[in-house]
Amino acid sequence: MAPVFSEMIEEARLSARAIRDYGEHFFNPTVRLGVTGLSRAGKTVFITALIHGLTRGGRFPVFEPFASGRIARARLEPQPDDAVPRFDYENHVRTLIEARRWPNSTIDISELRLVIDYQRQNGADRRLTLDIVDYPGEWLLDLPLLHKSYEQWSKESLALSRERPRARLAEQWHAYLATLSAEGEEDEQAALTAARLFTDYLRACRAERFAMSLLPPGRFLMPGNLAHSPALTFAPLDLPDDGAAPEGSLWAMMARRYEAYKNVVVRPFFRDHFARLDRQVVLVDALSAFNSGPEALHDLEAALAGILDCFRIGRSTFISSLFRPRIDRILFAATKADHLHHSSHDRLEAVLRRTVANAVARAEDTGALIDVVALSAVRATREAMVARGRDKLPSILGTPAPGETAGREAFDGNTEVATFPGDLPADAEALFAGEGAFRGLSSASAEKSDYRFLRFRPPQLENAEPDGPTLPHIRLDRALQFLIGDRLQ
Ligand code: GDP
Repeated sequence: MAPVFSEMIEEARLSARAIRDYGEHFFNPTVRLGVTGLSRAGKTVFITALIHGLTRGGRFPVFEPFASGRIARARLEPQPDDAVPRFDYENHVRTLIEARRWPNSTIDISELRLVIDYQRQNGADRRLTLDIVDYPGEWLLDLPLLHKSYEQWSKESLALSRERPRARLAEQWHAYLATLSAEGEEDEQAALTAARLFTDYLRACRAERFAMSLLPPGRFLMPGNLAHSPALTFAPLDLPDDGAAPEGSLWAMMARRYEAYKNVVVRPFFRDHFARLDRQVVLVDALSAFNSGPEALHDLEAALAGILDCFRIGRSTFISSLFRPRIDRILFAATKADHLHHSSHDRLEAVLRRTVANAVARAEDTGALIDVVALSAVRATREAMVARGRDKLPSILGTPAPGETAGREAFDGNTEVATFPGDLPADAEALFAGEGAFRGLSSASAEKSDYRFLRFRPPQLENAEPDGPTLPHIRLDRALQFLIGDRLQ
């Protein structure tokens, strides 16, 4: 009975908070916008560019309230939650614009509050508070753990790690696992070593782009401020099919820590952060998945389905009432579109649309409006027609970051190169089938060099505008229009 009772208290507490939030929102309209995506998807760059554009008067022709001049002012204010780190906006802008380097990526949750003074379409002056919450998408993949026991999770994780191609990456961990006795005495050193080798295995899977959706616990790869805590020091064990953990055993110790992980890490995140979001943007580095071929695309599809599942937590289950998000708009955005010629942007959108189609069909009962866009929060390239032999080809010009190499060329960070982005196929289905696969960019100067994965430096800005430079982007304004345009009418 005890857990049910505690869940009832929890629910009462949450209802009270929901009413409080509602009251506050009534007098002070607020949108809590979640920004997520797997590691390196582009969250930090997206948020930095969005705030910079809104506060400095960026070029946003498709963001109607901005383009029509109804937004009088947007400014930063102290954030509402004292226990959440602040998004390091000022530092990130300096790094991007002054140093022309990409800022440090998201490794933990952070938050920032933007206050927008605007005029309604009927002329009345109003204020909208936009709370932006940045968090690693890996954390969302933990939701299914909430209704799994340690034994179940252990069994599933082990079975998966014994399948090819993962088995190769799990060799060291498996070798160590074979020396452990689940029913033997609990042992901190054994737990530490097993957790370390298990984490190495997860990391190797991620590096080789195997299905992220099947790789919880998310904090093992993105620990935030919990690195090295006992709640993160556990791993699967080879367990008997039935029976219970003997008291004082390694099994009991691992199971206790697994439960702690759910209670002190997973639940609080969903309850205190996720369940309070109103709008969500999920950023996706779809281009690098296309470049890796159809398996990576299918993995991405599975990971996005896992993420979208969080938004449709079954309305009937008990967990649902605790964590049910109130999100009413979700935007999937393919980032880094500046690596492609503009003629391919619609195709990039089409492929992302296809990637999330199945998950979206399942998520229809969320009642949330879902859209897809291909964008570049900060455009690092320009387009030009460049001669190649007798032809003139549509090309992308950008400055590879210092230390980047392609073939035998090593770049110093000051040289602009022209690349010819491959055309994305018109038929999104072809990419999934592995036909007509996108084979990326080829170099203007050395045909054999592979420029596909070059990281370009952020753009050089001309410091000509009165309010300081604004950052070039692709379709960031379309994203804004979908995410908050309706709240500024
Ligand atoms: P996070 O892990 O989701 O916070 O990812 P970041 O925002 O740190 O982005 C990861 C990397 O992707 C950056 O360091 C850049 O190299 C690249 N990147 C992100 N956004 C863009 C973009 O709009 N254009 C280009 N060219 N690169 C980008």
